[in-house]
Amino acid sequence: MTLSHGRPYLAIPGPSVMPDRVIAAMQRPAPNIYTGALHEMTATLLPDLKRIAGTAHHAAIYIANGHGMWEAALLNVLARGDRVLALVSGHFGQGWAATARALGAQVEVIESDGTGPVDPARLEAYLRADRGHDIRAVIACHVDTATGVRTDMAACRAAMDAAGHPALLMADCIASLGCDRFEMDAWGVDVAITASQKGLMTPPGLGFVFFNDRAAAARDRADMVTPYWDWRPRAAPELYYQYFAGTAPTHHLYALRAALDLIGEEGIEAVWTRHARLADAIWAAVESWGRAGEMRLGVGDRSARSHAVTSISLTAPDADRLRAWCETEMGVTLGIGLGRVPPEGWFRIGHMGHVNAHMVLGALGAIEAGLCALRIPHGAGGVAAAAQRLAAA
Ligand SMILES: *Cc1c(COP(=O)(O)O)cnc(C)c1O
Repeated sequence: MTLSHGRPYLAIPGPSVMPDRVIAAMQRPAPNIYTGALHEMTATLLPDLKRIAGTAHHAAIYIANGHGMWEAALLNVLARGDRVLALVSGHFGQGWAATARALGAQVEVIESDGTGPVDPARLEAYLRADRGHDIRAVIACHVDTATGVRTDMAACRAAMDAAGHPALLMADCIASLGCDRFEMDAWGVDVAITASQKGLMTPPGLGFVFFNDRAAAARDRADMVTPYWDWRPRAAPELYYQYFAGTAPTHHLYALRAALDLIGEEGIEAVWTRHARLADAIWAAVESWGRAGEMRLGVGDRSARSHAVTSISLTAPDADRLRAWCETEMGVTLGIGLGRVPPEGWFRIGHMGHVNAHMVLGALGAIEAGLCALRIPHGAGGVAAAAQRLAAA
């Protein structure tokens, strides 16, 4: 027998837990895509999405995952051979840079060691050296989901301004939107991308690009974009089908409506605070366990840690043993290590979206039980430390 029977908890950093209301919203027959309720409902999604992204500018919806949004964002602002500067703090930053290169951009990379973000001073110095202002875009993950590193996008903008450089600032918010505070316009981000299956609590399959007028102007010289990826008709559709370049993703849209209702009822500030406090409890547990044995948080500086995902190092093979035990014995699925060298010593806890205190305490309790059951050396009192953090404030 195992103790895993009951509602499972998918504590991986995407796809995230789907609320019952989101699942229920998809239980319906196919709607008419030519006229009526679906059209009216779709029009209500965009203002809510823009509010969550902190922008008053443009938004386009795609039927695609995050990898699709990497391409969508780049294709609408770049011409073949343009220089792009990628700030990389993990596997996903590398992925976006590789995508830009494959599309035909000339990509240069400034990389951190994965325990924190790229120092904005390095960005400023790099841009100052580009006297001809050839670099068209700076791309960075707001949160890199592999390392759990959060990049201060406002500090990146400040570095670009200090260098007097006109490049666009583009942020991958796929892991962070709806979890970590993000204020696109206030922070001077020109393009932001996200996808449905993380903080937005909706099945994978919808992608979103937010862009301001500077980015919209860059579209005029973009020469690689194909009709499907062009953001112009999607952001300013004359006909409904132009939102999606074809058939609407009907049930995903109803699911997204339900998820945006949940966020609206809670309030985005409260959503951000909830994620911050749950993350703080997780860090307290890991720090306690790490007082003996090998467990460590991947990101030392609290201010550079994501509130959506936590990356933790252990040893190989203990990280894999622990994940397997938590899944089969406790019903909690933890995330694998990603892009670490070697990947075997790492695991991740996803705490994005529809997650509350008892779920986080449950996941931490399962991990602590696993550490005991597998005789993995660790400090005592991780769950108690987390409970104390949640009780405080
Ligand atoms: C999940 C994620 C991606 C990839 O998204 P897919 O939907 O899996 O293609 C890219 N960047 C970041 C930061 C992510 O968290």
